[in-house]
Amino acid sequence: MLFYSTKNRSHKVSLEEAVRRGMPPDKGLYMPEMLPRLSQAFFNDLPRLSLRDIAVQVASVFLRDVLTEQAIKEVVEDSITFETPLVRLEKGLHVLELFHGPTLAFKDVGARFMARLMARLHPRGEMLHILVATSGDTGSAVAHGFYNVPGVRVILLYPAGRVSPLQEKQMTTLGGNIIALEVDGVFDDCQRLVKSAFADESLNARMALSSANSINIARLLPQSFYYFYAVGQMMRIGETPPVIAVPSGNFGNLTAGLLAQRMGLPVRRFIAAVNANAVFPAFLRDGVFRPAPSVATLSNAMDVGNPSNLGRIIDLFGSDMETLRRHIYSASFSDALTREAIGEIYRRYGYVADPHGAVGWLGVRHYRRTSGDEHPALFLETAHPAKFAPTVEKEIGQNVHLPERLQACLERSVKSRPISAEYDDFKHFLLHIPA
Ligand SMILES: *Cc1c(COP(=O)(O)O)cnc(C)c1O
Repeated sequence: MLFYSTKNRSHKVSLEEAVRRGMPPDKGLYMPEMLPRLSQAFFNDLPRLSLRDIAVQVASVFLRDVLTEQAIKEVVEDSITFETPLVRLEKGLHVLELFHGPTLAFKDVGARFMARLMARLHPRGEMLHILVATSGDTGSAVAHGFYNVPGVRVILLYPAGRVSPLQEKQMTTLGGNIIALEVDGVFDDCQRLVKSAFADESLNARMALSSANSINIARLLPQSFYYFYAVGQMMRIGETPPVIAVPSGNFGNLTAGLLAQRMGLPVRRFIAAVNANAVFPAFLRDGVFRPAPSVATLSNAMDVGNPSNLGRIIDLFGSDMETLRRHIYSASFSDALTREAIGEIYRRYGYVADPHGAVGWLGVRHYRRTSGDEHPALFLETAHPAKFAPTVEKEIGQNVHLPERLQACLERSVKSRPISAEYDDFKHFLLHIPA
């Protein structure tokens, strides 16, 4: 299977190239040239398939030209090491928990799969260096995703004093093949250093550099697996096709759901639930996309004013706004509503949601009220509530249990190396990384 650029459909590359480059030279986004419908036999079996069985079958569609079936199985088994359970809140309303991975957020699925796929596709014997500039969450998912993957080293750059203590611990306490650099600057400095390194020919001649950025197709594809799993679980109880609410920021998660739907998955409608960063609902309404500066909210992983996957969604639907609206409903919710929702979900169902999941639930409620459509629904819970304990505890009047792996991480010490925001220092560091 080849992958084209959303800016030029005749620019097609192999999976290896799409994964290695991350972004096409024309700054578009890679998309699979075909989204074949999966077989009827697959859908008949779906209610009985495990997440990993599903992952192998879906991944094979994209990977079978480049990896053997055995290799695909190994990539899946090494990356999908945790479940994504569908939890029933009441008849017709469920939550798909995507936070059971090492960093307690759904990005673990994409990051772990991408790491193992990159390691497989990279020639053996040469160390691959992944450079990542991060302001927090991406860094920890990528660090954990690549941790202990042979043949790969990750160099994370984060702005000193500008990530939360928990995020810093999650990124910097692993050691091993994960190197964290605390940059004396802001996030933009981190990004500039990484970009300069990618553009530096003499550096690239001496070491293999790659990025792990969030638009990489290798991060997107695995996010479709759990949509198949969730709908399979809904089939078991006769609640299909469901409405699925996706708390969205860069819209990678939603895009993966749309890919699954194109491959034949029965989904009645997607709900793109957003916080005060409301560019997407405005786009659906007006048919014109206007990026906006991002604003800070409680659901901070969705504080995005220019969603990076929008180009993929537009590519899937052409410029046909009517079809787009038929497939996706979207609404924005304030922090005040998000707080209330956390309390209400707890009182109604005894369920503890984090602020991102709460926005998803608000999406379902709003959709039902405005459309009158009472079809079965599920929303995605993208982060563990313990990551937002102060906010959540205040609304539910209870302590949130801190999972052991988070507790363990908090007790480890930060191993990062301070560095200036000068490119020459960064380059010198890269060329002399201790073995
Ligand atoms: C990244 C993230 C989101 C948003 O996902 P997108 O794919 O960027 O739309 C939602 N919730 C959490 C917890 C996240 O980390």
